[in-house]
Amino acid sequence: MHSAAALATAATHDVFNQAKALENYNLFDGNQGLQSALKFNAPGLATADLQALGARLGSAEMQTHAQLANVHTPQLRSHDRYGNRVDVVDFHPSYHALMAEATRAGLHGSPWPTFFEAQPGTSTAHQRRAAGFLMFTELEPSTLCPISMTYAVMPALRSNAAIYQDWASGLSSLHYDPALKLFSQKTGLTMGMGMTEKQGGSDVRANTTQATAEGHDAWGQRFTLVGHKWFFSAPMCDAFLVLAQSAAGLSCFFCPACCPTAA
Ligand SMILES: Cc1cc2nc3c(=O)[nH]c(=O)nc-3n(C[C@H](O)[C@H](O)[C@H](O)COP(=O)(O)OP(=O)(O)OC[C@H]3O[C@@H](n4cnc5c(N)ncnc54)[C@H](O)[C@@H]3O)c2cc1C
Repeated sequence: MHSAAALATAATHDVFNQAKALENYNLFDGNQGLQSALKFNAPGLATADLQALGARLGSAEMQTHAQLANVHTPQLRSHDRYGNRVDVVDFHPSYHALMAEATRAGLHGSPWPTFFEAQPGTSTAHQRRAAGFLMFTELEPSTLCPISMTYAVMPALRSNAAIYQDWASGLSSLHYDPALKLFSQKTGLTMGMGMTEKQGGSDVRANTTQATAEGHDAWGQRFTLVGHKWFFSAPMCDAFLVLAQSAAGLSCFFCPACCPTAA
């Protein structure tokens, strides 16, 4: 038996013509265009792990992480409760879950060592990573900012053999380690970029940050940078490529978050 009031409420409040949530589906199986592109560009690539990744990225669990990471935005903690300056950005656990998933899938720096070591033209590491990255974009794009910066810095780092030697394995490690620690104490590393200034976006020659040479260390000549960067999207990365004006003109500097000498 239903009261007249209950029947009336059902008539006005029941949801009967909305789509069901699109969840627990396979992003790889459902993407014919991606599968065709891989067959054309990387015919030798085994796709079983991409298919498994597609199922994972289409899961309701990962969708919940994506939603929570965006509802609970990062918080800057400038000081600890004892008054020490710390400048730490706290992220929601779901942000870390997404970062861990993208890292485990090798969407950051991991294709490069394989690519560098392979015979020219034989590696499909970049195509595999691009396919995984494309699927992850459907889930949550903002964590892909530090993930893609970590991918993008590797060829530039290789121009300094000592830095590449020290950092490449951490930047390609499949383990995500969010701790703010010296790079050599971590199981996985990420990198960001500090290019843009208030007056210098596309035209980075307008940058005013100054680089002053001061001594050498195992990685080469050291510099002190003084200036004001404008966008710094992933400030909890382990190191950054930073643009600044040196005596020789605009240059790109490797800037670790925790310096060996300061540790
Ligand atoms: C979400 C997000 C994250 C970011 N993260 C980072 C980061 O982590 N680190 C970092 O360093 N930067 C970061 N940036 C900044 C980004 O690199 C700059 O926004 C970009 O370089 C463009 O600079 P701008 O915004 O000053 O635009 P402008 O350079 O002012 O350009 C504005 C418009 O003018 C056009 N334009 C500019 N120059 C020319 C030209 N010569 N000829 C024709 N058209 C032109 C552009 O196409 C654009 O449409 C981020 C930006 C965004 C939106």
